Amino acid sequence: PHQGMSAKEMLHIRKHNCNPMTMKVTSYKKPVFIHQGHMQWLWDVDGRRYLDLFAGVATVSVGHCHPKVTAAAEKQLRRLWHTTNIYVYPTIHEYVEKLVALLPEPLKVVYLTNSGSEANELAMLMARLHTGNFDIINFRGSYHGGSPQTMGLTSNAAYKYPVASGLGCHNTMCPDVFRGPWGGSHCRDSPVQTYRQCSCPSDHCQANDMYINQLKEVFATSVPSQIAAFFGEPIQGVGGAVQYPKDYLKEAYKLVRERGGVCIADEVQTGFGRTGSHYWGFQGHGVIPDMVTMAKGIANGFPMGAVVTTPEIASSLGKGVHFNTFGGNPVACAIGSSVLDTIREDGTQEISANIGTYILKELAKMREKYEIIGDVRGKGLMIGVEMVKDKASRDPLPPGDVAEIFEDVKDMGVLIGKGGVYGQTFRIKPPMCITKQDADFFLAVFNQSMLNYMERR
Ligand code: PMP
Repeated sequence: PHQGMSAKEMLHIRKHNCNPMTMKVTSYKKPVFIHQGHMQWLWDVDGRRYLDLFAGVATVSVGHCHPKVTAAAEKQLRRLWHTTNIYVYPTIHEYVEKLVALLPEPLKVVYLTNSGSEANELAMLMARLHTGNFDIINFRGSYHGGSPQTMGLTSNAAYKYPVASGLGCHNTMCPDVFRGPWGGSHCRDSPVQTYRQCSCPSDHCQANDMYINQLKEVFATSVPSQIAAFFGEPIQGVGGAVQYPKDYLKEAYKLVRERGGVCIADEVQTGFGRTGSHYWGFQGHGVIPDMVTMAKGIANGFPMGAVVTTPEIASSLGKGVHFNTFGGNPVACAIGSSVLDTIREDGTQEISANIGTYILKELAKMREKYEIIGDVRGKGLMIGVEMVKDKASRDPLPPGDVAEIFEDVKDMGVLIGKGGVYGQTFRIKPPMCITKQDADFFLAVFNQSMLNYMERR
């Protein structure tokens, strides 16, 4: 039985004392009052069970309160919570040894932080110190954080404030093969392609050339001849699981490096096997970044982040002392370590590949049936369903209509996410422990929500 505050009290406090804006952007008309979680399930205060396909935005990587991870946390909590890294203590060393073993050379130096924003902020600093340059380029539609510098990279109006943030940050057009002006369909790395088939030869994507030209235009118009960095998520998360033509990142990295810049992969959502085919999203693009930033799924929902980079770039911080009180905290590291073990032992990357591909293919069949499903895309358990007024216009389905479906799906027992620059894309990024049965339940619910939507019209 639930013994906490009543729903009414919580709503009052939420409204008056507790960052009310988060609810405005992301929540339900009738909120869900959570009592507890286990693996892919959440229960509300009335004992109603929900299948959680959003995982706190791709954060609960191996399952809510996963028993193995919980045990690791409990064990560490009894031994030592904190020392700062002034002293030498095993947990952090055991963790970074495991983490760097999962990354290719020369990505071998780890800085631990407490969030994704902090990791990206640090990556921006290191890129600038290392290169001696200032300007940083990223994709429109991306989310890289809400701190002063990273807000400049975050290119989504909902998360912007009218303050001087992120000087020297410049957006380039997101090479979105569905919504972008040039399409680029058969070139994206997904089990499902858009109906915007492009006519380029199979070995060369002409749409990709056009998106790359946009990047070249940013080089020609917005930045000096030498730049500090290029930031890109392997698949855009908050942007709505947006995917690029296959060769885009490879070509962009080359152009950035020619201008003295370092390439940064933000793996906050795509890392730790979520894309199924690879442990890291960048591997699906055939590139090796100079820096990788991580958070969210790194510790299954416990606050933790990381920047992994090369010894050469890391040495740029040696000119001063970079200190972070909580970064590398023993409890976070014990949890992080257990998450890495659990990903391997539970085979969550394989689950991402198999169940993710199954969901994608089934959703693609639904797209053929319903005019308002514009695009189905993604890889593994990083899935986007972009809702449109109709397939011909590709105009985003209005926010009110999207919210109606979102609420209906929740009322039928499934929690999904919303995203995209126009709030038009459903995001499915569950804990990576879901089963085929869960997938079938979701697919039936989503199909029913489409029927319900049409019936109400
Ligand atoms: N990068 C990406 C890709 C993200 O999705 C987010 C969070 N939505 C961040 C960075 C920022 O992470 P945090 O909220 O932990 O600061």
